[in-house]
Amino acid sequence: MQEKKRSPEEIVILAISSAAVFCLLPFLIWRSIEQDWLIAGLDLFAITVAIVIFIHVYVTHKVLYARWILGILCAIELPLTIAMKGSDQIGWIYPAIIAIYMLLNPTVALMISLTMISIVAGVLWSQLSPLMYFQMLFSILATALFIYAFAAHMLNQQQILQQLSTKDPLTGAGNRRALEDKLLELMSYKRAHRDNTSTLILIDLDQFKEINDNYGHNVGDQILVTFASLVKQKLRNNESLYRLGGEEFVITVADKTSDKASILAEEIRELVDMFLFTNSIHLTISIGIAESQANETSLEWLGRADAAMYKAKGAGRNLCCVAA
Ligand code: GH3
Ligand code: MG
Ligand code: MG
Repeated sequence: MQEKKRSPEEIVILAISSAAVFCLLPFLIWRSIEQDWLIAGLDLFAITVAIVIFIHVYVTHKVLYARWILGILCAIELPLTIAMKGSDQIGWIYPAIIAIYMLLNPTVALMISLTMISIVAGVLWSQLSPLMYFQMLFSILATALFIYAFAAHMLNQQQILQQLSTKDPLTGAGNRRALEDKLLELMSYKRAHRDNTSTLILIDLDQFKEINDNYGHNVGDQILVTFASLVKQKLRNNESLYRLGGEEFVITVADKTSDKASILAEEIRELVDMFLFTNSIHLTISIGIAESQANETSLEWLGRADAAMYKAKGAGRNLCCVAA
């Protein structure tokens, strides 16, 4: 079986948990030799948690709880170490803040790191001269805020890239790449749950070339946009619209058989048939419907929906046809 690819989140957790082990292990040995059992115990606890998290993520690929536990561990370990060993441990706060931002959403990371900084500030108040204290405090606060600005900017860029790489720019429907990912997801769900069935509804706009020829490409574009928004209004949870290319669209209907999906397809066909688009243009659509089958690839599944759609075209258009 092909090994599952590791997500960037998994890699971050594996890197931070192994870094925590390698950074803390020499100090655990050192403190044990010095018989400083309290801090050695704290290091041992952090190392154990980091190892458990590493193994959990490595084996299960699940990151949700691991991110939180590791982030909170970073935020707790440091104030405790400073409380026990004093201000010379403060240098560790910088990698701890960076790790928290790498693990958690920027706003959550900001809140956790500010809480950690407040606790550390309280602990250090009596240990440093006022000048040293405020120099340290402001440099730590500046670090937390700069990393927040950077992390928030990166998150925003990531969301824009995600949008660009998965959405069709004209209609806002999912693009072909997003459809391929969705089909793979539905197929792998079916392989894991044999009795699960999902259905594809493939829609092709009838005689669309004529509309372009008669009214121009811009009007054609406007119709594609209106068509996509009409369809989106009809969709519920577990139903998504993708533009396969040109004037062809696909709706994925998760967890439903072709009987149930046919009702939705027929409603969409009727809605479009009754609707007047820009310039009072009347348009019809031909639809192919195909239920997922075990042991077929996503391309074969899409191919059966396409063949059913061509059957609808052959039978006179403005029809829904279910694949064998
Ligand atoms: P049929 O009923 O057999 O599907 O006829 P049709 O004219 O819809 O099919 P055909 O494949 O011959 O033509 C599809 C047309 O869709 C051709 C192309 O000009 C138009 N088209 C594809 N993508 C776009 C687009 O992004 N914008 C516009 N305006 N037209 C597009
Ligand atoms: Mg076509
Ligand atoms: Mg067409």
